[in-house]
Amino acid sequence: MGEKRAESKSHFCLSCGRDISVIKDSVIFKCPNCDTEIARCGKCRIKGAEYTCKVCGFVGP
Ligand SMILES: [Zn+2]
Ligand SMILES: [Zn+2]
Repeated sequence: MGEKRAESKSHFCLSCGRDISVIKDSVIFKCPNCDTEIARCGKCRIKGAEYTCKVCGFVGP
């Protein structure tokens, strides 16, 4: 009743699609090109896996 959902939307790694909240060393940052939030899990950071911004198509890291 009157219960508000805390802002705890989960973020999923843009490279592998996993929920980053369960993976250590995950990060959320803004796309260097368009400021869209990008989530990346620790595993993909270590691997240096590529990501592609869904909004502008920027490919990183
Ligand atoms: Zn990942
Ligand atoms: Zn972008």
